[in-house]
Amino acid sequence: MVLAFLADMAHHWLFHFKSDLFRYLLAATVMSLSVSLLFRGWMSRRRLQKRRARWADIRREFSYSMLTLGVFATVGLVTSVLRDWGLVQLYWHWGDYPLWWNLASLPAVILIHDAYFYWCHRAMHHPRLFKHFHRVHHLSRTPTPWAAYSFSIGEGLLMAVFSPLILMLLPLHVLIWLAFIFVMIFRNTMLHAGCEFHPRGWVDGPLDFMTTTTHHDLHHQRFQGNYGFYFTWWDRWMGTEFSNYKDVFHRAVDGEFSDAATAPQKTTATG
Ligand SMILES: [Zn+2]
Ligand SMILES: [Zn+2]
Repeated sequence: MVLAFLADMAHHWLFHFKSDLFRYLLAATVMSLSVSLLFRGWMSRRRLQKRRARWADIRREFSYSMLTLGVFATVGLVTSVLRDWGLVQLYWHWGDYPLWWNLASLPAVILIHDAYFYWCHRAMHHPRLFKHFHRVHHLSRTPTPWAAYSFSIGEGLLMAVFSPLILMLLPLHVLIWLAFIFVMIFRNTMLHAGCEFHPRGWVDGPLDFMTTTTHHDLHHQRFQGNYGFYFTWWDRWMGTEFSNYKDVFHRAVDGEFSDAATAPQKTTATG
C-alpha cells in the first residue's frame, strides 16, 4: 500500500520533471541555435555585450536549471495532489466556461504573471533576500538562454508556487495552461539570449510596452533596474527602468557590441 503510493508519487514527479525538461531544452536549444547557427550573421551584429559567456558559465547555468527543474517537479507534484482534492480548476471542455473567458484567460494569466514576477523579482533584490534567493541567477553577468532557470532553491520555489496559486484562483483550460507555459519559457530564454531579436525601431513604436532582450540583459549587467518580464509597464510606473534603455537598444542593433566591433583589428606589417 505505502509502496504503491510512493511509486505513484515518483511517477507523477518524473512526469513533471520530464515535461519541464523537454520545454527547457527545446526553448534554450532553439534560442542558442538561432544565435549561433540559423541567424548567425544577423545575430553577431546585434550582440548586447562585448563580454562573451564562457563554457563554464553555460555549464553552471545548465546545472542550476536542472536543480530548479527538480523544485518545479516537486511543486508540480503538490499541484497534482491539490487537483485530486478538487482545489485546482483545470478543465478539458471548452464549453464548460463562456467563450469570452476562453479567449481572455491566456492574456489574463500573462498579465498576472507579469505583476507576480515584477514584485517577487524586486523583493529578491532587497539586500536581506538577495544572497539567499537571487545571487545564483546574477552569477550570469553575460546570460545565455541556458540561464532561464538558473536559480537557487529559494528562487525556484518562489517562481514555481505561481502555478498552484493561479490554478486555485482561476479556472483554466488545459491547452491555455500549456500555451502559457510555452510562452513563458520561450520568452524567458529569449530575454537571456545575449543578442537583440526585436526589429530596429521596436522601442520607438506602439509595441514598446513589451520588453526586449536588451531590457533584461541590462538588468544582468547593472542589477538595480529593469525588473520586468513580459512588459515594461511596471518598471515605468515604479520608475525602475534604466533611463538609457532605449539608447542602449539602438546602439546594440547598430552593432556597437557586435563580433566585428570587438574582434582584434588586423594589422598589416609594413617594411
Ligand atoms: Zn535573468
Ligand atoms: Zn534580478
